[in-house]
Amino acid sequence: MKKITVIIPCLNEEDALPIYYKEMSKIMKQMKETEIELLFVDDGSTDRTLSVMKDLHELDGRCHYLSFSRNFGKEAAIYAGLQNADGDYVAIMDVDLQDPPALLPKMYRILEEEGYDSVATKRSTRTGEPKIRSFLSKSFYNVINRLSKTEIVNGARDYRLMKRNMVDAVLSMSEYNRFSKGIFEWVGFRTKWLEFENHERSAGETKWSMKKLFCYSLEGITGFSVAPLSFASVMGIAFCILSFLMIGVIIFRTLIWGDPVSGWPSLACIIFFVGGIQLLCTGIVGQYLSKTYLETKHRPIYIIKDSSEKEKGAAHVRESIWSKCGLDQSA
Ligand code: UDP
Ligand code: MG
Repeated sequence: MKKITVIIPCLNEEDALPIYYKEMSKIMKQMKETEIELLFVDDGSTDRTLSVMKDLHELDGRCHYLSFSRNFGKEAAIYAGLQNADGDYVAIMDVDLQDPPALLPKMYRILEEEGYDSVATKRSTRTGEPKIRSFLSKSFYNVINRLSKTEIVNGARDYRLMKRNMVDAVLSMSEYNRFSKGIFEWVGFRTKWLEFENHERSAGETKWSMKKLFCYSLEGITGFSVAPLSFASVMGIAFCILSFLMIGVIIFRTLIWGDPVSGWPSLACIIFFVGGIQLLCTGIVGQYLSKTYLETKHRPIYIIKDSSEKEKGAAHVRESIWSKCGLDQSA
């Protein structure tokens, strides 16, 4: 019997968790041909999320949990889930039922019968979402797809079901600055896309503020494109050419008409403009430098404080400490 591990990242979801479990247990009953286990990842919640997870673990042995020492972000929660999932198939799903669990049997059938390595999902509509948020996210997809060779599908959710070979490939990308939507595309494999209509959250509020979304979009751009760095070089070359032309024009004008010192407003404008472009370019270089700096530190992507499989969690932390020190555990 094939085993599916479902990874569910949770940040302050004490209200959504029981609703999710109720819904998911119906699906687990329905999919008799598989063994399904739920792996909840508590991403440093400050409410009763962890104790609800512990209750679910007591109630149903198929529910497991990992709990972080602080909030490391959804990307870290997904990575931790993937590292600790041992199913033949692995799914990633939000806890707020915006990723409908009812799609899971169909996704499983596609992997079993149609030879795909992964089934991914995207929203066909964005109803219920604030207009400004939809507009900004649409613009983000336009920009990133122009800049990056890796295609990032507009409206793609993190909700997907993958075979073990794809999970292992994703795990081999152990970068600190993670952008899963790009990573899933970058690793390749045959993926089938399913569409579904947007649903309202079952309980609680979205954990993604505008600021968080903006930082996440920068993560995507710097992680999957170096085109902005070329922009700095292109602007530098363009301004050099322009300045040579201007020098030529000024020399020519002075020689012909003997123009006195005039036109300081235009000069001030040019200084501001060029200064602005220079700062913008320095900022772009700074963005890449800061990401490189964080990568070279080799900090762990997450730290586990508590888990339903305490030994497994502790072994993982030990393992990562050993490998960080460049030592072989068996030595
Ligand atoms: N989440 C998380 N860590 C975070 C932010 C979100 O684990 O720092 C989880 C959250 O609990 C939920 C999922 O990621 O299960 C999606 O978050 P949310 O529903 O707030 O995002 P939205 O659907 O509004 O984009
Ligand atoms: Mg949501």
